[in-house]
Amino acid sequence: MSSPSEFPQVRLAVSDCLRGTECRYNGGHAQDDFLNHGLAPYAKFYPFCPEAPVLGTPRETIRIVNFDGEIRVRGTRTDTDVTQGIEDYNRKMIPKLLSQGVDGAVVKSRSPTCGMERIKFYRPTGEWFGSQDKMGQGLFTARLQREAPWLAVEEEGRLKDAWLRENFVMHVFTQARWREFVEAKPDVKALQTFHRQHKFLLQSKSEAIFREMGPVVAQATPQTLAHALTTYESLLHEALSQHSKRGAVINVLDHMFGFFKASLNAEEKAHYLETREEFRQGIVPMIAVIKVLQQFVRHYGSDYLSEQVFLHPYPAELALRSKVEAYR
Ligand code: SF4
Repeated sequence: MSSPSEFPQVRLAVSDCLRGTECRYNGGHAQDDFLNHGLAPYAKFYPFCPEAPVLGTPRETIRIVNFDGEIRVRGTRTDTDVTQGIEDYNRKMIPKLLSQGVDGAVVKSRSPTCGMERIKFYRPTGEWFGSQDKMGQGLFTARLQREAPWLAVEEEGRLKDAWLRENFVMHVFTQARWREFVEAKPDVKALQTFHRQHKFLLQSKSEAIFREMGPVVAQATPQTLAHALTTYESLLHEALSQHSKRGAVINVLDHMFGFFKASLNAEEKAHYLETREEFRQGIVPMIAVIKVLQQFVRHYGSDYLSEQVFLHPYPAELALRSKVEAYR
């Protein structure tokens, strides 16, 4: 098992019921295995629940009602309007979570407060006519994404998809590394090192954004460092919000392979090219190609590659690179 100290501790805002807290409308929970067993050793959770502290548990279920664009939250049985209490909670809790430096959020799907997408917006009559009616976000998550558009947010249901899960985990671990980097009050040289170590990770996200980051780092001076860090951070957020594509990842792998071309014998070259082709075709997972490259790094040595975060961006136990479906 990776030692948690090899990686930054990720700060995650989480819907409290996903941690196993019995705060759902019926007094139950929605304990999520990936969160509580996969991520927990490497994360600190910052729980929130926009409903239980306001409405109590158990409670009447609520739904979003769309009054000609004015969004309200109403009880499904009594039609009681509970918008104010929930909005007051959100207004206080979201800045608190952001001031605690959360690196991402995992929210409960299908909730009119926590859901991130496809939440039904009912008509004032209480009806919902499928595709004719609007769907959207729960109140809490809508506000969270308005106030922190850069934040990695996912629903526990979407995280069952290997590709979305890999992208989310890559995002939050990189964000946590950046947060700790900034907290350590870096100088210009440290920024150059951070950028160099993240080169292949950033290229796997977006070559264009990576190219924009280069001059920001190259032109930074002690006098302009604060501005450079702000610009770099916003480009970093933009890069991390891109979902990696298999083609971009293969370019990065080939680039790394290029470091050893002169040293490799024909058999080693063929072994890499075969494994990489099987990854391209979705026959083997990415970890198979990484293992071949890691073998080359060990055997032939490369200081430049051994410090690349792309080769170990998050704990291997999360096994995200062992799934063929983790790349599209
Ligand atoms: S409001 Fe959110 S955190 Fe609270 S029980 Fe509902 S889904 Fe879970």
